[in-house]
Amino acid sequence: MSTPSEFTFQAEIKQLLHLLSHSLYQNREIAIRELISNASDALDKFRHITLTNSEVTNDAPLEITLEPNETDNLLVIRDNGIGMTRDELIKNLGTIAHSGSLEFLKTAAQAGKDAANNLSLIGQFGVGFYSAFMLADKVEVLSRSYQNDEGHRWESDGSGQFTVEPQADLTRGTQIRLHLKEDLKEFTQPWRLKSVLKQYSTFVPHPIKLGDDVVNEQKPIWVEPKSNVSDEQYQKFFEHLSHGETDKPLWHLHLSSDSPFQFHAILYCPTSNIEKMGFGRAEHGLQLCAKRILVQHNCRELLPEYLRFLFGLVDSADLPLNVSREALQDNTVFRKIKKVLTKKVLSHLESLATERPDDYLTFYRQFGITLREGLHSDFEHRENVAGLLRFPTTASPPEADKPEPLIGFEDYLKRAPEGQKQIYFLGGPDRKSLEKNPNLEVFRRKNLEVLLVTDPIDEFVLGNLQNYKDKSIVAIDSAQVEFPPTTEADQAEEAQTQAARTAAAESTGFQRVLELLRTELGKEVQEVRASQRLTDAVCCLVNAEGSMSAQLQKVLAAGDRGFNAPKKIFELNPSAPLTTRLTTLADNSANDSFIQQCGRQLFANALLLEGLPLDPSQMVSRVQGFMLEAAEKRA
Ligand code: ADP
Repeated sequence: MSTPSEFTFQAEIKQLLHLLSHSLYQNREIAIRELISNASDALDKFRHITLTNSEVTNDAPLEITLEPNETDNLLVIRDNGIGMTRDELIKNLGTIAHSGSLEFLKTAAQAGKDAANNLSLIGQFGVGFYSAFMLADKVEVLSRSYQNDEGHRWESDGSGQFTVEPQADLTRGTQIRLHLKEDLKEFTQPWRLKSVLKQYSTFVPHPIKLGDDVVNEQKPIWVEPKSNVSDEQYQKFFEHLSHGETDKPLWHLHLSSDSPFQFHAILYCPTSNIEKMGFGRAEHGLQLCAKRILVQHNCRELLPEYLRFLFGLVDSADLPLNVSREALQDNTVFRKIKKVLTKKVLSHLESLATERPDDYLTFYRQFGITLREGLHSDFEHRENVAGLLRFPTTASPPEADKPEPLIGFEDYLKRAPEGQKQIYFLGGPDRKSLEKNPNLEVFRRKNLEVLLVTDPIDEFVLGNLQNYKDKSIVAIDSAQVEFPPTTEADQAEEAQTQAARTAAAESTGFQRVLELLRTELGKEVQEVRASQRLTDAVCCLVNAEGSMSAQLQKVLAAGDRGFNAPKKIFELNPSAPLTTRLTTLADNSANDSFIQQCGRQLFANALLLEGLPLDPSQMVSRVQGFMLEAAEKRA
């Protein structure tokens, strides 16, 4: 029985190829970078095998060769790396490993004009090999794996099918034969290729030959002292590591150490967080070298997950070259390097936050959502991560056309009055409703700052954190709030209002109002009581001690229909004009039902303000009843 030689691309690849060859043609030369990067990986993999497996030996220098052929309008990119078996050709060049890639490209294509910019991110999504079809209308891949003597030829015109046939007379490695599109003859010109290589491939760690010339420098700038490295070199190296992101990174860190173990590292923070743009998880990892030789490309274990947005390279003479990926992670030096990198990155962020707060906020607005994961995963650095968090606050209202100001715990505590033992926050759906929340009244009056969070995860984080240094973090709609002691003058004034309020609260009329509301709302609230915190608003809802904040309950309720929100405490302000009037009316039992209707409506109003669910039909007829009553009193 003969083996099949014709195959169909996975559906996603068909779409990808269509996009690559039809829509995204602004920046075709990146295909060369992608193919060279694959060749370089294949060389690294082969070298790693020769180092770990004594049965495989290296016969010739590892290199990449570019062979342009003007007459045939052909460009061949050749490497003597690991090569591919028949099965590998079918699997590697017929399916797509990164599911985010296609989504990304679709968005990029739809973005039209902006696509060129977005395209600089292609490398992060590993479109890789398929970009060959941006340059060629036919691609042949001739490959022989280091594992056997038989070679194969893969071929496709990128329209839907590919074939794989045996091919005689191949040496180890891979040749990508690009039959260039008619209008792309320029890619057979050495000057054109040199300029592309200069742009993209300076840091490829293997010689790239064009004819007999080696055209790349392969310069390991990370082993140089910082003072010897120019801004341009740092920038080029970042472009190399990020597969062509052309934006300037937000910052970089160049680290060197000789003891207790030797290592060099350069880490970069890109400008934008691809995860925030909705393109899935950043999974690029760092390059790991031992004595300048690449041991692992995309090493994701060198940094904790919450710093996964960083690009970089780490090189250590103390790492073994000849161990597997798995064994490497158990290596002591490897683990120590990870520890040092984490500490250095966090302390860099701390200094950035104090020395260049605006730059820090730019960073935080992009990467804060990833960084805050560290609170749950890195207990050793939990306090450092907490210190790096930023939140919107009552102290700095947003200004038009500017990003909302944010503040961290340290600055918050610096501004807090002496004796404030808690960090206050309030969560809600948006800034406007937060500002209207009656729970804020007393904080305004006492001039106490409150963090106002609209991101449910931030609210979750704050609720979970419980404390920062020796201050507890509390939601102001919870019963645990404590106020700092006030000045004598304030205290005197406070005592007066308090006395008036207590008198009002203790009056038999008000007690009767409370009783009536208890009967009316009894099943829906935990308690109805006089409020100590309100001055202007008539009523508010308070969470009982230990129960979760309003916003978090909403999140849970939205996710789970069976979720039963804990009952709240309904507080009534005894000195608000509406309440004093109800207190008077309570003398006459004929008013009981009216007072209860008012209480019901006040409860509905409080639910509305917090964005909590309520039954609109009953409310509508009740409000219309009130309107009728008011209307009938008019002349
Ligand atoms: P990525 O490189 O991001 O995995 P590609 O689409 O570029 O995605 O390549 C898919 C796979 O094909 C690679 O992971 C590799 O296993 C294989 N491959 C590509 N080019 C070569 C090559 N020159 N030599 C050996 N294997 C290769």
